Amino acid sequence: MINRTTILGQYKGTFQQPDIFGYYGHFGGAYIPEMLHPNVEELKEQYLKIMYDEGFQTAFRDLLKDYVGRPSPLYHAKRLSEKHNSTIFLKREDLNHTGAHKINNTIGQILLARRLGKHRIIAETGAGQHGVATATVCALMNMQCLVYMGEKDIERQAPNVARMKMLGATVVPATSGSKTLKDATNEAIRDWINNPVDTHYIIGSVVGPHPYPDMVARFQSIISEEIRWQLKEKTGSELPDYVIACVGGGSNAAGTFYHYLEEFSVKLVAVEAAGHGVKTGMSAATTQLGKPGVLHGSKSLVMQTEDGQVVEPHSISAGLDYPGIGPLHAHLYETGRGIFLSATDKEALDAAFELTRLEGIIPALESAHAIAGLNQLKLTPKDTVVICLSGRGDKDMATYMKVMEG
Ligand SMILES: *Cc1c(COP(=O)(O)O)cnc(C)c1O
Repeated sequence: MINRTTILGQYKGTFQQPDIFGYYGHFGGAYIPEMLHPNVEELKEQYLKIMYDEGFQTAFRDLLKDYVGRPSPLYHAKRLSEKHNSTIFLKREDLNHTGAHKINNTIGQILLARRLGKHRIIAETGAGQHGVATATVCALMNMQCLVYMGEKDIERQAPNVARMKMLGATVVPATSGSKTLKDATNEAIRDWINNPVDTHYIIGSVVGPHPYPDMVARFQSIISEEIRWQLKEKTGSELPDYVIACVGGGSNAAGTFYHYLEEFSVKLVAVEAAGHGVKTGMSAATTQLGKPGVLHGSKSLVMQTEDGQVVEPHSISAGLDYPGIGPLHAHLYETGRGIFLSATDKEALDAAFELTRLEGIIPALESAHAIAGLNQLKLTPKDTVVICLSGRGDKDMATYMKVMEG
C-alpha cells in the first residue's frame, strides 16, 4: 500500500478532477489565442452540466452498448499469465466498433456537440485513427465533418483517408511546416476561430486546453468503470495490483486509470514509446525526455530543444508518435502516483508477436507497448494485472508483414 501523503506532498485536490482552471498540480490550464476564448469558455461552462444530465447519460450509454458493443470483455489471458507468472486480464477495447477505444470519446463529444447546438464538426488527425472515429460518429449523427490532416500523413495513411471519405468526411490537407499532426492541429484551431458559432472541435486525446483533458478522461472512464465490476465478478475483488496502458496523448490510459486514481493499493503503469531507444534521438518517451512547456493549449511535459522548439518524436506506432502527454499524466509522473515505463519499437513488436501466438489476439502496435511493459515489472503469482488492449492490429499488418519477411 502506497502512503498517500508521501506521494502527494502538499497536493490537496484529487487526481480525478483538475481545479477550476483545469490544473492537475502544475500541469493543464488553457493557453489559447484570445480569439478562441468564447468557444473554450462556452464548453467549460456547459460540459459538466450536459454530460451528467440524465437524458445525455441514457443516450451515451445506449450508443456505447448497441453501437460500440460495450461492455468490452475483460478476458483472462491464461497463457500470457503463465508466461509472466501472474494473473493477467486484457480489457478488450480492440473489440469496439472501429477497432479501438477512440470511439468512446467521439460518441460522447458528438452527443455533446448536438446539445450545444453545433452542426459542423472539425477534428485533427495524425495516423487517421481519430479522424476515422470522428467521421464515423458524424455519419451516425448526420453532421458535417472536416478532418485536418498533414499532407505527408495523407500520403502515408491511404486506407484511413479512404475510410474517412467513404464515411462522408472532407479530409483537408495541412500544407504548412512538417505537414504532419502539429500542422493539422494548427489548421483545426484556425478553423474553429473562424467558425465559433456552429462548429465543435473534437479533440482525440486527453490533451488540449481545459476542459478537454477532463472531458475526454470522463468519456473514456467507462473503461475502468467496467473493469471494476468485471474484475469483481471474476476474482471477487474490484482492485487489481496493477493496471497497465500505453500512452500517446494518454486517453486510453486515463480511461483505464480513472476509477483507480484514488485507490492507492492499485499501481498505475503507463508505457510510453521509446522508439529506437530513449537516448537515441528517435523516441517519443515524453516523461523521460520532456520539460514543462505549452503544447496544443495546455501546460504539460513536452519534448523540446533548449530554446523551446518542439522536437519531432519517433515511434513505430503512429498513435504514440506524439511529443507531448496529457496534463493528468504529467501530474501522475511528477507526484509518483503513476509508474512510467517505456518500450522500444523492437520490444513492442516482440510483444505483439508474443500475444498473437499465446492468445490468438493480434494487437495494435500501440497496445503492444503496454504488453511489453510486463517484462519490466517484477510480477509474482499473487499479482493480478489488468492491461488495456487499446486497439486491434488490422491497421498495422503492413508493419507486421515486413517483420515476418525479415
Ligand atoms: C490513438 C491510439 C492510442 C494512443 O492514444 P491515447 O490517447 O494515448 O490513448 C493508443 N492505442 C490505439 C489503438 C490508438 O488508436
